[in-house]
Amino acid sequence: MKQLTLSNLIGRCIVSCMLVLLTQLALSLVPRFLSASSLLIQLPLSALLLLVVIGLGGRIRRVLGVHASAPAFVFFSILFVWCVYVLVIRKAVSHVMDVVFNGEVAILIIGLCSILKSDPGLEMYGSSEDRCIEDSTSGVNSQNQELELSDSFLGKRVRHCRSCKAYIRGLDHHCPAFGNCIGQKNYILFVILLVGFIITEGSYVACSTQFASKFGIFNGTMSETSLFANLAVSTTTFSILQLVWQVPFLTWHAYCICFNIRTDEWINWKKYPEFQFVDQSQPGQSCREVRFTNPYDRGILQNVKEFLALTG
Ligand SMILES: [Zn+2]
Repeated sequence: MKQLTLSNLIGRCIVSCMLVLLTQLALSLVPRFLSASSLLIQLPLSALLLLVVIGLGGRIRRVLGVHASAPAFVFFSILFVWCVYVLVIRKAVSHVMDVVFNGEVAILIIGLCSILKSDPGLEMYGSSEDRCIEDSTSGVNSQNQELELSDSFLGKRVRHCRSCKAYIRGLDHHCPAFGNCIGQKNYILFVILLVGFIITEGSYVACSTQFASKFGIFNGTMSETSLFANLAVSTTTFSILQLVWQVPFLTWHAYCICFNIRTDEWINWKKYPEFQFVDQSQPGQSCREVRFTNPYDRGILQNVKEFLALTG
């Protein structure tokens, strides 16, 4: 929701592209020097290297004052993996698998573009002025305004996103990777996109496994030792590492859908009065115990139906 100038946007895209190249080339060093090691050894090392590169990238960003764009980083990562697929992996997979994988990548890019510009359920404040609520203040004022509004919007589940400084109906969380809030209007798209990422990465791992078995990769008899072969291995470990956090993340969202609760509500339930249940079962006690309750939970079947009906 922050408006960037075109030159600023292009600059961030270039930085993101360079960061993707740096990350992927750094990851390719693991199979380059540990080609005889199994994937189980390469995976944690790749994860460690990924954290080091991200940490270094953050430090360089602070020192040089250059900014990357998380959605552009995601986009260029997809593009990089797809390039490795076309140049290396593709020759080892069947025609059907080739069509399926290319289709998945195309859908993923369309989905990414769609969620970037989607309306998460932005609430307008003051219909006469027809403007978005945006608090220019921060700190205590912001918190008070937020609490007041959470009362006035009770039932509509309007919550405040600090990243966008905006009020979103049915806010789940702010997603830096997709550069947008995830709210009532784009929650279904978000879940579909998350499933799409998991399926595409799973397909890539399946394709690269076919490539690996053909060229003896992962079992110490690797016949291809070029940079491309190393990239085939490193992009596979990269995809597996993505699956490692995305599968539990999707499971969490399935839980949220089944019990009709949003991530923001789960974390910040003490801010929202409707989630607070005051236990008065023991009148003799001086301090009252506030417990969590979910007034929106109407049973799994009804909750799933409500989720499928989410559009506006
Ligand atoms: Zn946001």
